[in-house]
Amino acid sequence: MIRALVDGVVAALVAPVCALCQQVLDHPLGGAVCPACWARVVRFSPPVCTHCGDALAGRSDGHTCRVCSVHLGPIHAARALGPFDGALVDLVHACKYGRRPTVADGLGRCLRDVVRVWQQPLDVAVPVPLHPARERERGFNQAERIARALDLPVVHALSRTRHTPPQAAASAAARHANVRDAFAPTREATAVRGRVVVLVDDVLTTGATLAAAAQALMPAAPARLVALTAARAELARR
Ligand SMILES: [Zn+2]
Ligand SMILES: [Zn+2]
Repeated sequence: MIRALVDGVVAALVAPVCALCQQVLDHPLGGAVCPACWARVVRFSPPVCTHCGDALAGRSDGHTCRVCSVHLGPIHAARALGPFDGALVDLVHACKYGRRPTVADGLGRCLRDVVRVWQQPLDVAVPVPLHPARERERGFNQAERIARALDLPVVHALSRTRHTPPQAAASAAARHANVRDAFAPTREATAVRGRVVVLVDDVLTTGATLAAAAQALMPAAPARLVALTAARAELARR
């Protein structure tokens, strides 16, 4: 009996907890976040802006925002799972700062639903790369993990040529200046020629990073560029 008790105590002590709510995970092999926390994710529901994917608010024409709050450059359309709020903030932070790559995998699996209802079939996914120094420090690229979980062929068509300062506190103009010429096509970029390419990242805020990545991919002649992120942030809210 004592042995069973000690066993229980040890099990409770080493049992991994959910990265969000800190409750002991019933199925630790299922990832770092419990099903209840995944269920807290608020998703965009239709109608969303056909250009930027945001929830349609007062000034919309029924299809677009009229004036979208993002500048997407050569990207035809962007979609996100939901607003960068509540559980999605916690999930993105757990992934990036808590170094939980399985959370990025989970976000990618959620995004399959968005891929499935896209008006046009998507051919390949291109993750927005991190600078190699940052990827070494983090141990993985969250955009790459999200892209891998989409069930689309993944092409590493871009590299990050400059170590850009963190974007979090920058204004929209500063963000666009920050990432200008920060990306270059890789040898693999030939694989996107004539294909419908979805650029994948964790969060869309001003569109600066995605637009710069898209610009770098244009010489590879994709048929169409679209973008997919786990979350959609408002600059003013951050
Ligand atoms: Zn939880
Ligand atoms: Zn819009």
